[in-house]
This record gives sequence, C-alpha cells and structure tokens, in this order.
Amino acid sequence: MTDHSALSRRRFIHRLSGGLAAASLSSIPLIDPGPAYASPSVMGPRRKLGWAIVGLGSYATRQILPRMHECEFSQPVALVSGSPDKARTIADEYGITHSNIYNYDNYDSIADNPEIDVVYVVLPNSMHHEFTIRALRAGKHVLCEKPISVTSAEAEEMIAVSRETGRKLMVGYRSRFEPYNQLAIQMAREEALGPAKVIETSSGFNIGDPEQWRLKQALSGGGSMMDIGIYSIQAARYLTGEEPVEVTAMETTDRSDPRFREVEDTILFQLRFPSGVLANCVSAYSSNHGRYRLIGQRGWLELEPATGYSGHAMRVSQRGSVEARVLPEPAKNQFVAQLDHLSESVLNDTEPLTNGVDGLQDMRVIEAIYEAVRTGRAVPVAT
Ligand code: NAD
Repeated sequence: MTDHSALSRRRFIHRLSGGLAAASLSSIPLIDPGPAYASPSVMGPRRKLGWAIVGLGSYATRQILPRMHECEFSQPVALVSGSPDKARTIADEYGITHSNIYNYDNYDSIADNPEIDVVYVVLPNSMHHEFTIRALRAGKHVLCEKPISVTSAEAEEMIAVSRETGRKLMVGYRSRFEPYNQLAIQMAREEALGPAKVIETSSGFNIGDPEQWRLKQALSGGGSMMDIGIYSIQAARYLTGEEPVEVTAMETTDRSDPRFREVEDTILFQLRFPSGVLANCVSAYSSNHGRYRLIGQRGWLELEPATGYSGHAMRVSQRGSVEARVLPEPAKNQFVAQLDHLSESVLNDTEPLTNGVDGLQDMRVIEAIYEAVRTGRAVPVAT
C-alpha cells in the first residue's frame, strides 16, 4: 500500500468515526485488508451457536437452510414465519422442535429462549430495521440481510441499539467470504497490478413478476439499487478499501412497464474515491450483469460472475497477456463461511467483518445516488 492510499484509508476511517461512537469504531475493520479474518484465534471451548431464521422465503429456504449442516459453529434451532404450516414442514426437515416456531407477533418472546443465540433476518428490506431491533432488544446477535435497512437513519438506529445492547450486528454481504472476491481484494491491497485507477462494476438481472415485494416501494425501499446495485457499491468500496466522497448518476426506467410503476429500473452511477480512483457502475432490473474489473496502472483483474452464488471466474491481464486464475474449492463456501464468521465473532467477542457500519455506508451512497438522479448534479456522500 502506498503512503498515499494509507493516508486515504486513515482519512476515511477518521471521517466515519466522526458521526458515531469514536471509541468503539476505532476497533472496527470497516474495510478489512484481506481474508485474514478467516481463522481468528479462539480462546476456550467452542460450540455450535443456535440460529433463528426469520422469514422463510426463497433465500432462506433454498440457499441458507440447506447449507447450515455444513457449518462448524452454527445450527438452525428456531424459525420465525407468518405461515405456521410452512414453518412446521421446514422445522421437520431440519430437526427443529415445533416449540421453537415463532410468528411475527410473539417474536419478542425469543428473549426467553436460551437456545437462540443469533437471529438471521431474511425478510423484505423495509422489515429489516424493525426485526433487527426487536432481536437485539431480545438479547440476540443479528445477521441482517442486505440492504441493512431502507434509509441511513434506520441503519444508524440499528447500530446504536447493537451498541447499547452489546449484541453483534452483521450484514449479509456473502461476497466478502468468497475466495475470488477475497483474492481480488488482496491483489488490490498489494497493488499487484499497480495503483488502482478505475473500477467498472455491473450488477443486474431481469426481474419477473410485477406483483412481487421487490417492486413495491413500501417493502423494498427502492428498485434495483436496493437489491442488486448494492453489489456494485460494495465491490467498488471493498476493492478500493476507501469510502467514496462524491457520486453522479443517471437513471433510465420505462414507466409503462408494469414492473416499474413504483421503483427504478436501471441506474448508471460514478463514484469518486479520495485517492483519485473513479468507479463506473451499473445497477439494473431489466438486463443481466454480474461482473467487475479493477484497472491498475500495470494491468487489470476481472471477475465474471463476480458476486453470484457460484461459478466465479477471474481473469488477470498483465505484461501483455491475459490469464485465468483458478482457485481450489474452499473448505467453507461463502454462505457457510458467512454464518460461521458471525458465530465465531460472538464466541470470540470480535467485530464482524461486514458490520452495521459497512451496511450504513452503502445506504449513504444509495441516498447520494438517488439525489444525484433527482438533481442531475454531483452529490457528496454524507459522513
Ligand atoms: P422472498 O420473497 O423469497 O421471501 C421473503 C419472505 O418474507 C417470505 O417468507 C415472506 O412470507 C416473508 N414476508 C413477511 N412479510 C412479508 C410481506 N409483507 N411481504 C412479502 N413477504 C413477506 O424474498 P428473498 O429473496 O428470500 O429475500 C429476502 C431478503 O433476503 C431480502 O432482503 C433480500 O435482499 C435478501 N436476499 C439476499 C441475497 C444474498 O445473496 N445475500 C439473496 C436473495 C435475497
């Protein structure tokens, strides 16, 4: 890392510390320098922590629950759902006792259940704030799906309650636990391709059913930016290890398309980082994108797919040739590594890598992007 980028990093940590409790923030790895978190030192005996899964939709039932048996430190012990029949069926599938099934009304009584250590909030975006705070107040640690909330003010409150209650708050940014993304971060930090100059990142998919909650403003908080565009922001932030200071943005949305009556489709946005790096980013709900490229003075690296569930591929260009980098299968895939990371953070009393402040920062960037779209002007990112 050059002196210049080291300085930028110190500056952005200092800036973020300003608005929040500086003493506790100083120990939080806002942008981790690399994948070293994977094996934290452990004191004393370990056990599997008990997890309650809140919301039994597609992500929880197809991606998370089926992989939990691979975890070393995490196991599902409770379910929270508005559908009792569905909850009973899923409970039977995963060996969860029916007395540990809760609904959204009696959810707060998880406070009386010592089997539950951690709550995983996998609900529509606008419910993250309420269900995270209720879990923290019930004395539980929380993994909250992305986006952390639908406004930065909500995210700030969630962080404040996590500090007040002394319970961990982590955001479900699984790509930080995925080996190709970790290698890209490491190469960026080591300036393996020279100092970074430009980042290009595109995230999008062609969304279906116009009636789904993702396309209802009250439940989603926004369109593609809140759902998939956030991966572009994350990538630009974790590749640079800096916080953007300014954004510009343009939107294109076909309002006659029944999917986009309430929320935006495509936004192209640019981020300016303190070191001078510029990021050119896409967020889309009507076309498929899933790549990023980090361009340094001496070459570039590219991931495509970059942030999906599987199939990640990396190409590196330097000294006039382009090579594929192939990594061995990790001992823990990104889903399992993410779950165990929070359990280990609880067991070791360490701050999770993708903490609430990480989630808050993305909300501040999204708010600046929306304002840039509205005003047609460059907008500074709030600190
Ligand atoms: P989903 O629609 O499949 O599931 C949502 C769940 O919330 C359902 O069980 C539904 O019954 C429940 N729910 C409760 N109140 C509801 C309401 N008023 N309206 C609609 N549903 C309600 O959605 P999903 O794809 O599982 O997404 C859930 C969360 O997980 C979102 O925040 C999303 O951003 C996040 N997610 C993250 C990833 C990732 O890779 N990290 C992937 C997919 C989804």
